[in-house]
Order: sequence, then structure tokens, then C-alpha cells
Amino acid sequence: MCLTCGCGEPADETGVAVETDTLLVEERLLAKNDRLAEHVRASLEARDITALNLMSSPGSGKTSLLERTVAELRGRRTVCVVEGDQETSFDADRIRSAGARAVQVNTGAGCHLDAHMVAHALDELAPAAQSLCLIENVGNLVCPALFDLGERAKIVVASVTEGDDKPLKYPHMFRAGTLILLNKIDLCPYVSFDVGRFIENARSVRPDVTVLPLSATRGDGLADWYGFLQSAVAS
Ligand code: MG
Repeated sequence: MCLTCGCGEPADETGVAVETDTLLVEERLLAKNDRLAEHVRASLEARDITALNLMSSPGSGKTSLLERTVAELRGRRTVCVVEGDQETSFDADRIRSAGARAVQVNTGAGCHLDAHMVAHALDELAPAAQSLCLIENVGNLVCPALFDLGERAKIVVASVTEGDDKPLKYPHMFRAGTLILLNKIDLCPYVSFDVGRFIENARSVRPDVTVLPLSATRGDGLADWYGFLQSAVAS
């Protein structure tokens, strides 16, 4: 829960939200975050480090995709990972086991990563010049869309177990990402998910979005994902 994105909106003694004060605080916090994010971005770009911010609902398969990506790129590209979760270091442990350096950021009651958290994580990771830094945001389709982390691009990870109407229900998130990874397509025979309708819904929110169907477990579409990473690093 956070004040910045409105989900922790304060109320006065009558239970009525103090909307004006909340909006002012929200604007100030987002402006402060944006300034810090620009600093992070400049620092990364100066060393030609590509940072990508992966956002999704919980359980879309972000960590599984990152594990496989780290294993695939091992020996060819230096990769480090910033892991965001409210509690535990499970995901950072998984990434380290897959072969990459990782820092776990626990947000406690917070529902998103912000530029301040990422700046500290990057201080700890000290990524090498020309490396790839993958940021796994807290699983949440709302608040992470608001926060610039200094990344080069935002990527939305969706999955066929979530419903093909998600882009219409969470338009801010699906508008934020230049790329949507549609994960778990190996499960399509078992769920009522219409891939064509999902793509249509996603493009109604962001017409220029690229949708890449894949399966982090079976391997479908991963060559295209690695190709995207290659072009992102080279850009
Ligand atoms: Mg995870």
C-alpha cells in the first residue's frame, strides 16, 4: 500500500478522503522520484548499461523467465538482477543459483519499486560497463506503472492464466510497456484465453506495442526474447 499512487489515500475524521492534500503529496513524491530516476538513467547510460524494468501481476512467471535468461546469456553477456518483493529473498536466491549477481529489495508494505530503492541496489551491484541489468518489479499491475526507475525500457509480463481482458482493466500498466511478453502459452490448451483478443485489447491501449508470446518453461518464443535483449543492449 502506498500514499504516492493513491492506494493509501488518507481520510479525515469523517472518513472522507483528503483529496487535495493527497494529490499535492503525490505530485511532489512522483516529481522527486522522476528527478532521481533521471540521475539513475544518466549514470547507467554513461556506462552503456542497459536496464529493463519487468512489471506484472504476481505469478506471471517473471522470475522463471529471468532464471532461464540468465542461464542462456551466461558467458556471453554480463547480467545482474534487482529483485523486488515485499518480503523474502527467494527470488534473488533463485537468480544467484541460475548464475547472476542479484540484490533483493524488500518493500515491506510498499507495492512497487521506486528510483531511490533501485539507486541503492545499483550501488550494491555495481554493474559492469556494457552489461545488462534486469529489474523485476513487485508483482502488481497498478502502482509500478507510475514509477520511473531510470530504466531504458519498461516491459510488461502477462500470462494466459490471467485473462485476456487485463489490458482493458489495467490500461496504465499496459500503456507503460513498449513490449508485452505473453508467458505460459504452453498452457493455452487448458485455459479459456484468446491470444488474438488479448493482442487486440493491448493494442487498443497502446497501438504500437509489440506482443511476444512465449513459454519460459517450454521455451517457445525465447529466441525472439533474446533477440529483443540483443537489440536493446545495442541501442
Ligand atoms: Mg518473482
